[in-house]
Amino acid sequence: MSNEIRVRFAPSPTGYLHVGSLRTALYNYLYAKKVGGKFILRIEDTDQTRYVDGAVENLLNTLKAMGLEYDEGPDKGGEFGPYYQSERTEIYNKYVQELLDKGTAYRCFCTPEELDKMREECKAKRLDTRYDGRCRNLTENEINEHLKNGDKYVIRLKVPKEGEITFYDVVREKVTFQWDTVDDQVLVKSDGFPTYHLANVVDDHLMEITHVIRGEEWLPSVPKHLFLYESFGWKPPKMCHLPLLLNSDKSKLSKRQGDVAVEDFLNKGYLPETLLNFVALLGWHAPGDQEFYTLAELEKAFSLKRINKSGSVFDMEKLNWMNGQYLRNTDLKIIAEYARKYFEKAEYHIPNEKHYFELVDIARNRIHKLDEVTEFAKPFFGELEFSDEDKTILGSQSAQTLFKFWAENIADSTELNEELINELLKRSAQELEIKGKNLYPPLRLALYGSAHGPELPTIMDILGKDEVINRFQKLIK
Ligand code: GLU
Repeated sequence: MSNEIRVRFAPSPTGYLHVGSLRTALYNYLYAKKVGGKFILRIEDTDQTRYVDGAVENLLNTLKAMGLEYDEGPDKGGEFGPYYQSERTEIYNKYVQELLDKGTAYRCFCTPEELDKMREECKAKRLDTRYDGRCRNLTENEINEHLKNGDKYVIRLKVPKEGEITFYDVVREKVTFQWDTVDDQVLVKSDGFPTYHLANVVDDHLMEITHVIRGEEWLPSVPKHLFLYESFGWKPPKMCHLPLLLNSDKSKLSKRQGDVAVEDFLNKGYLPETLLNFVALLGWHAPGDQEFYTLAELEKAFSLKRINKSGSVFDMEKLNWMNGQYLRNTDLKIIAEYARKYFEKAEYHIPNEKHYFELVDIARNRIHKLDEVTEFAKPFFGELEFSDEDKTILGSQSAQTLFKFWAENIADSTELNEELINELLKRSAQELEIKGKNLYPPLRLALYGSAHGPELPTIMDILGKDEVINRFQKLIK
């Protein structure tokens, strides 16, 4: 075994990547980068009942979109593969046999009905539902009898029943659990597939994982895992449990309370850069008050020691604000590329690149996420809709005079440019005596569908000469 630091992200493919899992993946990635270690991706797909079509592919794509590249993993390989647990069943069988031989695991022949009854009894006594251990001490003969009858069984971990276990967690520091609160965990199900606990420990050992960095919800599993390490005679990795992510009402962030899938955030037009930055700060911060980090900066600044103990609120408002900042401050070319798919989806044909960039540039100053870009751009494409109030303004005498004047003069000119627009604005004031709120709002309304919006030259530039004339003419009675 080398001295190399090896960490892993070990998701179960549920169909989407939860933002909490993104944070776990990111912290593992950052720690590996920081210390020059290896970041491994392992797919924990032993639970056949939870199989979701396309889930792994989706997961890999999302990690790619986020730029979190792993050193070893599915589709990448590595000397510790396979990296799909479903391809490692034989390995687990071998190790569980070792536990049976050593007497730290046992076959449990209890039927689902018996277990249900046990659960009911626990509930009635208001106890935690836990296996009562009735198969812990079956004799050799009893076991053979069951096996001969072909009775179904699971294999359980024979955890100690007395005393306590204390371990050190990098974030939680000293943690103690009483053994009598720890269940005889099922290691192998009756279908012969291992549960998470067995596969996870065996793989972390075989893959030479040095630090387990994962969500706090796994903390109660640590006693079982440490007992497994001890039973095998293996050195356990360092434990590091990340604080919970919370809704603003301090409840646990869950799917029910809104979107938690990273791909949904991406589809809505939160930039990968924003999400990484935002998620990095959910439970960690460097000394000082730097708020914006690139991934490269995070790789340098990150440390496990500065992870918080208490839960972190997932503040949507802050995310929106931060995304707005990224939209405005990132190179326009990059934003325009990200934005393109929204235009394509809306079937907005972009007349030329110059106008497209202009449009994105105005839009990005007014929106929080990129899926709003098409709503913003909508007035430039297709028919405008006017309210009754708008119609009154558009039908007023001064507006009508204005539209005729502009339509004729633009039609007579060779080019519609800023110079011409400024000249017409001046002449409108001087010759027609239409100025101020009788001048700009009706023009903007006629061309853009709203009295507020981009500057007139920008609107006209994006629409182009013909469409400007067309829009005025449609309104002239
Ligand atoms: N497969 C577990 C999950 O989906 C991994 C937990 C761990 O990192 O040990 O969260």
